[in-house]
Amino acid sequence: MLDAGLPVRAFFTTRAGGVSAAPYESLNLATHVGDDPEAVAQNRAAVSVMAGAPVSFLHAEHGIRVAEVTRPGEDPAVADVLVTRAPGVALAAIAADCVPILMHDAATGAVAAVHAGREGVRLGAVDAAVAALLDLRSPAQRRVREGMSASIGPAACGRCYEVPEEMRDAVASRHPTARSTTRAGTPALDLPRAVETRLGELGFSSVLRQRLCTLEDARLFSHRRDGVTGRHAGVIVCGVSVR
Ligand SMILES: [Zn+2]
Repeated sequence: MLDAGLPVRAFFTTRAGGVSAAPYESLNLATHVGDDPEAVAQNRAAVSVMAGAPVSFLHAEHGIRVAEVTRPGEDPAVADVLVTRAPGVALAAIAADCVPILMHDAATGAVAAVHAGREGVRLGAVDAAVAALLDLRSPAQRRVREGMSASIGPAACGRCYEVPEEMRDAVASRHPTARSTTRAGTPALDLPRAVETRLGELGFSSVLRQRLCTLEDARLFSHRRDGVTGRHAGVIVCGVSVR
């Protein structure tokens, strides 16, 4: 488990610590990848123990839809952004190359978990999450953009994430810092850097980055590298201060 460095309990899981067999070994948290459902249920229960609260795992669709979770352990609607302001609610974004992002708003105590892949970044998943957090503020709180912090989890890096040139152009037209080149010199996307840039533009006072590449680090799941594989998660708990 990697500490996300936020003011509330928040962390990123790795492959370690679960019960799933190959090729999902071992802490696979996704139900849609062909793993034994009983093993995934055990793994998710282990993550709830780490969080100290029952975790609501998002159901991604590579879009910008937002779902608010109001009760601990609630199974959320399909959405790539989960938000809550209810203390004791734990949110998780699962990924394996896409970018998991955790956010905290000190003004309200609200938190968000975001799954941002190529399509999500292009369509504006980061903006959608920040808008959802601002919606939970009072009108007076909305006038200043202070108190927002975020942590960007492990993802495919800009030296590894090769894409067709037109795809790179489509994302970079909206997020210029996403434009990258692989070690081999071919077109690529740097989604973590694009997310970091956008959060800065949106007024975040603190943005942390794990800077771990899922394709290069065998401790993490990578769909690009392994094809059939599991998913790790970014987890954040509302209302549990750690600093
Ligand atoms: Zn890489």
